[in-house]
Amino acid sequence: MNEPVVLRGQPPKGAPSVPVAIVGAGACGLTAALMLHDAGIECVLLERDLAPMGSTALSSGFIPAPGTRVQRARGVADSPAQFAADIQAKTHGTAPAHLVAAYSEAIAPALDALEERHGLQWQLLDDFLYPGHSLWRMHAVPEKTGVGLMARLQNAAARCDIPLLTEALVRVLWVDQQENITGLGYLRPDGTLEHLACDALILACNGYGGNRVLVRELLPEMDGAIFAGHVGNDGSAIAWGRALGCHLADLGGYQGHGSWAVPQGALITWALLMEGGIQVNLEGRRFHDETLGYSEAAVQVLAQPGATVWNVFDEELLDFARSFPDFCAAEQAGAVKSCSDEHALAALIGCDDRVLQATLDSLDPGFVGPFGRVFTRKLQAPYCAIRVTGALFHTQGGLDIDGQCRVLRTDGTAFANLLAAGGAARGVSGNSVWGYLSGNGLLSAVAGGFIAARTAASMIGKQ
Ligand SMILES: Cc1cc2nc3c(=O)[nH]c(=O)nc-3n(C[C@H](O)[C@H](O)[C@H](O)COP(=O)(O)OP(=O)(O)OC[C@H]3O[C@@H](n4cnc5c(N)ncnc54)[C@H](O)[C@@H]3O)c2cc1C
Repeated sequence: MNEPVVLRGQPPKGAPSVPVAIVGAGACGLTAALMLHDAGIECVLLERDLAPMGSTALSSGFIPAPGTRVQRARGVADSPAQFAADIQAKTHGTAPAHLVAAYSEAIAPALDALEERHGLQWQLLDDFLYPGHSLWRMHAVPEKTGVGLMARLQNAAARCDIPLLTEALVRVLWVDQQENITGLGYLRPDGTLEHLACDALILACNGYGGNRVLVRELLPEMDGAIFAGHVGNDGSAIAWGRALGCHLADLGGYQGHGSWAVPQGALITWALLMEGGIQVNLEGRRFHDETLGYSEAAVQVLAQPGATVWNVFDEELLDFARSFPDFCAAEQAGAVKSCSDEHALAALIGCDDRVLQATLDSLDPGFVGPFGRVFTRKLQAPYCAIRVTGALFHTQGGLDIDGQCRVLRTDGTAFANLLAAGGAARGVSGNSVWGYLSGNGLLSAVAGGFIAARTAASMIGKQ
């Protein structure tokens, strides 16, 4: 059985039973498991990989949150309402209001709980204001990487003795006639299917970015683009949702990224471009306002000749970029090229010197330049350049949920014991690439996991 299916009835007799089963041990699943543990509720995490990584480990691990202990200590006066306004401004008001409110309220308590009860240390990233955020509210663990975030969440789960079944690829959802989830079936590496009964189920198995067929169907503009997320984003939740008659929402929403180094295959921080760097195509011309956001930039970059462009910056910006660990990794892999002057840069790009010179001359500090961008400084030789393409990072559409993360049917009613959060569920980016505000991915995962745990607890009568 290789495809996700829904079977009617109960798991086979003799299957073990657990109050709450969680599919997927990324940021969402692990947060939910830790919160259930704190509420005194037993749960089991089922994870397809031997060592859980998910897209969370591939990410930069940056999480926006208003009003955490750390943000308050830094003296930043933020609020869920301000955060919600920023999210909606990015989506032009198209994100579901109930989820924006729920997530912007829940994320700071979630980060504080992970800090106070499970020892996760948060740093406020205050050297750079992420596009679309009106205040410093991006948090990271000290390593400032997704690998660091995953390690800390997993260590916390291990300290709590939370059962984690690895190499357990969930393929079957069992559902009874009243449409209650009664359990699940999961494939073991040797091909055997094992079963687990449960009172409530949380789907935390992320989206469909790794499923080429679904990407072609739902995101045709990303068909053929590099997918930079985890292979486990195979659309399982969408397949189960379709079979169960769930409402699917915002399936055209996703996080793209216009700065994926090739051939190294590494994320190059957008902070470089926000702080004064530019993108030029193979003709040496700028083609968009880089400050609008990295997600929509993916589409702009892919539309350029050869679907590749160059990030151009200077040594002052190089020093700044070196504060990002993923940038340092890309630099070590040879992504950053140095050019003594404009001629060397034109030779590297393979474009006409005069076209490139005109592009560099147009960066007039203080004036509205081409595409409406206002520059604060001019790039200075020697230059640095990185060849990049546009990539799909993760999908933001999925199972429609209410503010308690309960999965909704097509008629708007909620399933009694089926929950979804993180990339498995609809996010807060609307139905487009341009609605993605930095951090919406882990916001949905961590705030959603936090809320789903609370709801699961109330479903099984513990809260
Ligand atoms: C390069 C990159 C950088 C990013 N940077 C950021 C960032 O800085 N900030 C931000 O907010 N977002 C970022 N994102 C997005 C972010 O990574 C995701 O939104 C987030 O990790 C989703 O968390 P999750 O728990 O829902 O999914 P995941 O972390 O992907 O976890 C899902 C887990 O479920 C498992 N799984 C899937 N299907 C099954 C199944 N059927 N049975 C059992 N297990 C299953 C998977 O193996 C995986 O471990 C980035 C993404 C990429 C690709």
